[in-house]
Amino acid sequence: MDDSCQIKAEYAQLKSNEKMYRLICDTSDRAYVYQNLLENTISTVSNWQYFFDFEVRKEKDLAGIFNAVEPDSKNVLREILSLEKKGMENDSAIIKLRDGKTWIELSATVIYDKKRRPTDKILCFNDITKVKNAHDELTYMAYYDILTGLYNRNYFVRLLAGFIRDAEKENNIVTVMFINIDDFRKINDAFGMVIGDEVVQQLGQFLADFKSDNVVVSHFNADSYCIAVNNPIGHRSIDIITETIYDRLKWPFYMSNQQEIVLSVSIGIAEYPEASTSPLELINCAEIVMFKAKTLGTNKVQFFDAPILSDYLQNISIENKLKAAVFSQNFTLDFQPQYSIQGKKLRGVETLIRWRDYDGKMISPIKFIPIAEKNGTIVPIGAWVMEESLRTYAEWRKIYNYPMILSLNISAIQYAQDDFIKQVIEAIDRYGINYEEIELEITESVLINDFKDITDKLHILRQYGIRISLDDFGTGYSSLSYLKGLPITTLKIDKSFIDTVLSDENTKVITESIIYMVKKLGFETIAEGVETEEQYTYLESIGCDGIQGYYLNQPMPAQDIEKKVLCHL
Ligand code: C2E
Ligand code: CA
Ligand code: CA
Repeated sequence: MDDSCQIKAEYAQLKSNEKMYRLICDTSDRAYVYQNLLENTISTVSNWQYFFDFEVRKEKDLAGIFNAVEPDSKNVLREILSLEKKGMENDSAIIKLRDGKTWIELSATVIYDKKRRPTDKILCFNDITKVKNAHDELTYMAYYDILTGLYNRNYFVRLLAGFIRDAEKENNIVTVMFINIDDFRKINDAFGMVIGDEVVQQLGQFLADFKSDNVVVSHFNADSYCIAVNNPIGHRSIDIITETIYDRLKWPFYMSNQQEIVLSVSIGIAEYPEASTSPLELINCAEIVMFKAKTLGTNKVQFFDAPILSDYLQNISIENKLKAAVFSQNFTLDFQPQYSIQGKKLRGVETLIRWRDYDGKMISPIKFIPIAEKNGTIVPIGAWVMEESLRTYAEWRKIYNYPMILSLNISAIQYAQDDFIKQVIEAIDRYGINYEEIELEITESVLINDFKDITDKLHILRQYGIRISLDDFGTGYSSLSYLKGLPITTLKIDKSFIDTVLSDENTKVITESIIYMVKKLGFETIAEGVETEEQYTYLESIGCDGIQGYYLNQPMPAQDIEKKVLCHL
């Protein structure tokens, strides 16, 4: 190949390369500035117009960039543009344009010759707005709750930990308030979840007003908020905060659909260092006492108190053990005899459940039945009690042929089950027991929640001949007037009456009139918790039909009942 051919070939190659580079540049969405520092020339390449509306022909034209960026970006820009003056090879920074939206990553590269003289410089502008926004959103989500704009749970815990560290050094206290909307489920059910969210949002906005250097407000979860107050004194004292909250709650919140909603909240309060020194535990304590506040009604405040915590922990432990006990059917039954007052004839027995914990401790049904009712384990427990009592009673009946009345305590949850009647009838039939020998006890509280449904069920049970006994009479509403419509056969006068019937004139009058009226209605009366002969004699004199109590017998295991039955044969 001769020289001219070679030149032609090289030229063609060059052209092709240039085309390639130009294409690459033209299709790039970045913009470049190329500066030949030795020849003092400058040119822009690629997408310059996308970023800036001025031309760069001389180095001084670069000053136009200063006008195009936000004031905060000017310093970093100056640094990058004078990179070669510091002898640096490359650097980059993020700058923001004056439009307030566009974020640019600006990088600069300077090329030096062997004598360390800068020869070329390239600036590259890259639009990173999308990436930056996504990143900002992630950062936001890491700290804030989207719904309310308040701090989220995680960040709240971190800030609280900071308060506690400071308080440790300065010997301060830090207070955590756990705030929960009362009956939030009802709001959701009545108005829908969108309005529910709006309620959470609006209350959150109101609580946000407490924010300051020493007060952190967070949306903790669904309908709960946590406020941490560092050194709660003066205008940020807890009294003032709770008062401000309850003052606001006197007025309704106005929803976007014109709905007015009046809210109430329960507040639990725990303090560092009294309740705990750990942020998570402190929040936990505040939450636990908040639950206690709920049991006191609505719009209630409860301060941390060690017995509340130990009660709560005990209940949790009972609840956990209870699940295991149900699984292994780790219960037994005692039976307490009931006698007719005339002649002290054995009328029947009341079944009472017993639970011995794995470490040998007895746990009273007064403690665990309410927990079992809350977590639903009362259903299998109640079914077991029924099955076991009927099985035992059927055995006695077969051996001794002494008809009695077997009384069973039935929880509201059991009565509410759709197939309750079917279960009862099937169980009684399984053991071939007469319906008339079975008595189901019910407390007034069961009737309050669902009067119609329960009384309907009681009527059906009565039609079979099953007896119904109203337990603990006198502790609930005890209105004699509603007794009339109730399909009951027996009324059990609560122990609290019997305890004072001899010493308190009022109780005496009430007990006598209860017995008088109840007999008129045709029900049988049984006095519970009879402990002394005097009580017995008195109850006999006023016409009570039956007694149950330590005076005659404590609850006892099945084999001891057999001995009692033998005495009556
Ligand atoms: P209750 O139905 O009112 O049962 C009577 C309670 O009073 C029993 O307590 C009994 O041991 C106690 N008692 C009886 N006579 C006397 C007395 O003369 N003096 C004193 N101080 N106490 C007396 P217990 O066995 O601890 O049961 C407590 C409660 O637990 C029961 O009260 C009942 O509400 C509930 N319960 C017991 N077993 C069951 C069950 O199988 N199912 C359900 N749902 N509840 C049960
Ligand atoms: Ca009872
Ligand atoms: Ca009772």
